[in-house]
Amino acid sequence: MTARLERPIERLSELFDVLVIGGGITGVCVAREAASRGLRTALLERDDFGSGTSSATTKYIHGGIRYLEQYDVAVVRESLRERRILALGAPHLVEQTQFIMPAWRWSKPPTPLLGAGVLLYDALSFDRNVAAPDSLRIPHPKWLSKSALLKRVPWLDADGLQGGFAYHDTLNLHPERLLLAYAQSAAAAGAVLVNHVAVDSFIGRDVSGDFLVEGVRATDRLGGRSLDVRARVVVNAAGPWIDKVLATLGRSTGVGVDRSKGVHVLTRPLGGGVVRDAVFARAQSGRHVIVSPWMGKSFIGPTDTPITDSDPTVAPDDVDLILDTVNSTMSGGEAPLTFDDVELTTIGVRPLIKDSDATVDPTNSAKDSADDGADTYSASRRHELYHHVDRGVRNLWSIGGGKWTTARATAEEMVDELAAHELNGIPMREFDTRSAAAHGTFAWADDAEPFLAAAAASLVEVGLSPQSAELVARLHGTDHRKIVELVSDDPALASPIAGSGDVEAQVIVAVVDEAARTLADIIDRRLVLGTVSRVPEAAIRRIAHIAAPLLGWDESRRDLEIRAELDRRAALDSHWRVSPARA
Ligand SMILES: Cc1cc2nc3c(=O)[nH]c(=O)nc-3n(C[C@H](O)[C@H](O)[C@H](O)COP(=O)(O)OP(=O)(O)OC[C@H]3O[C@@H](n4cnc5c(N)ncnc54)[C@H](O)[C@@H]3O)c2cc1C
Repeated sequence: MTARLERPIERLSELFDVLVIGGGITGVCVAREAASRGLRTALLERDDFGSGTSSATTKYIHGGIRYLEQYDVAVVRESLRERRILALGAPHLVEQTQFIMPAWRWSKPPTPLLGAGVLLYDALSFDRNVAAPDSLRIPHPKWLSKSALLKRVPWLDADGLQGGFAYHDTLNLHPERLLLAYAQSAAAAGAVLVNHVAVDSFIGRDVSGDFLVEGVRATDRLGGRSLDVRARVVVNAAGPWIDKVLATLGRSTGVGVDRSKGVHVLTRPLGGGVVRDAVFARAQSGRHVIVSPWMGKSFIGPTDTPITDSDPTVAPDDVDLILDTVNSTMSGGEAPLTFDDVELTTIGVRPLIKDSDATVDPTNSAKDSADDGADTYSASRRHELYHHVDRGVRNLWSIGGGKWTTARATAEEMVDELAAHELNGIPMREFDTRSAAAHGTFAWADDAEPFLAAAAASLVEVGLSPQSAELVARLHGTDHRKIVELVSDDPALASPIAGSGDVEAQVIVAVVDEAARTLADIIDRRLVLGTVSRVPEAAIRRIAHIAAPLLGWDESRRDLEIRAELDRRAALDSHWRVSPARA
């Protein structure tokens, strides 16, 4: 068994116990859980691992303090429990971050209520420091006076500011890399994970009026081949697209999805780069955004706009909304953010449980404008497991809703259900996911700093700059040794790629060990390049040049791939970048 993700498409002809549709965090966690319990497991992802909602998050493993406003105490408690479990399992890919919730005279909810919420949040995380090393310990929240707050966050509007509550949540530094680490754990446990294979329909037979699912018909989007993949039970973990997958059954399952668009922007660092705290910036309009210091910049969002479209794009209005919200919480000393300050945007679709009661609350000004009447801002972030046997479809489950933070728990629950139903009687191993580290983790529940320092030193020794060494150690964990080996053999592979901190050796690891098959896979989800700045054309060309021989691309194919990637990135930008007049 290996932690290498190899895209073993030929193995899809085997018979599996569990077949998972969707390689977001939910599907990957189900695959890891099932394979670790000894089940023969396959996962099909139509694009790349983490290319859906899971790489477009606000980057927090968190309890979700604002869900307390909806009295969603169960979701908050579960999330706080998971926050600890995920952090202990990958200390090099997370960081405890202090959040500031400023309180202005006009704040809604009013300051005493904000304080009560912060205290309840703290009480619900009573087990937060169990087994935690010093670097992951979370202190109790505290009140910061106005002057103390402005010292920490000088860009905040001082007018009417009373002070602020300081509490902690966990930054998921690079969600796409943590997801990849779980995918590698699943592969190490024996799962067959294949990206760029889209599920088109279900295969099976009719038995006394029921449809007995026996697997799926899928298309290899790289090779163009159609394939049938068979399994005892199929888990539909297609996130915001579970209903689209179910629609191919051609019969009603009663499962719907409420979708909401969530956009973030990456800008120059507010406060000039000295601010270390994330800020829960709630404007007088009632709207809020989280302003996170990230990779030397400010990562700001999200929006929450109900949509009916399942594949939306970022619109100028989304960016406007974020900029207006944050600008209205800023002091006169900080120049307002404009479109010119926005380097890039991210977009994700929240998969929410369809709730017929969740119609628009006209008094809720925190939500963004709706186009279908659903109040997705107030909608619960809970998850639900749908067993389709209720509607005459056997051997099929779907997973609705949920959060990145709770995906591990959802997966554990899902596999428990499979063990109790379709896979009852199949021998399984014990697997304690709660104390299992993600692939690449040096040690469960240990302090990352000494490991990161030693890893970075070994990378500097072979020629990486200190900035690149620190980044590579974080991104790859114990796999940084692969980079050390590659660069020892060919020192030119220590060359940096654009200003991101990535180095050329990472491109080789991405293709050989991490199943990257397109330029977007490499740029957006293996390296940090695509997430930290606009990507220069020269960098795309250089990456293609390194990857082409490994991917079997000849010169003309390489040029086609470069053109396609340049066009794709330009199209993404063109949806929201507006003329200077608007900016
Ligand atoms: C803006 C925003 C911010 C968020 N911030 C946070 C946060 O800070 N913390 C947190 O805990 N949660 C956050 N969330 C929620 C969290 O991101 C999602 O709940 C989670 O990522 C959903 O994961 P998933 O695997 O269910 O869905 P996805 O990540 O969307 O994965 C589903 C996968 O299924 C694949 N798929 C679809 N159809 C097919 C098919 N036919 N065949 C094969 N594959 C298919 C897709 O390509 C996709 O990769 C945020 C969500 C949004 C939108």
